[in-house]
Amino acid sequence: MKIRKGDTVRVLQGKDRGKEGRVAFAFPGKVIVDGINTARRHTKPKSATQPGGIITKDMPMDVSNVAIVCASCGKATRVGYRIDPDGTKSRVCRKCEADLPEPKE
Ligand SMILES: [Zn+2]
Repeated sequence: MKIRKGDTVRVLQGKDRGKEGRVAFAFPGKVIVDGINTARRHTKPKSATQPGGIITKDMPMDVSNVAIVCASCGKATRVGYRIDPDGTKSRVCRKCEADLPEPKE
């Protein structure tokens, strides 16, 4: 998985193209990004704690439609890998070769 929960990504395709957000969930092939690709759902009241109405929900989107934003160069980039001599695999920016930070869960 190149894109992980907590990463900052830029949307490349779709109605939210150009927007940036933080990955809330990442699963194989799909990501959910905070505030991106929202859909309004009309829901019926289920209980006192879940009133009905129109709620806005972030929908999963294809991982190929987003690119990680490099904290060093600020560009939307593809992810490369670097294997350190001790065998550690690090994600790096393909544009500036800087390490991409590991997001905190
Ligand atoms: Zn970079």
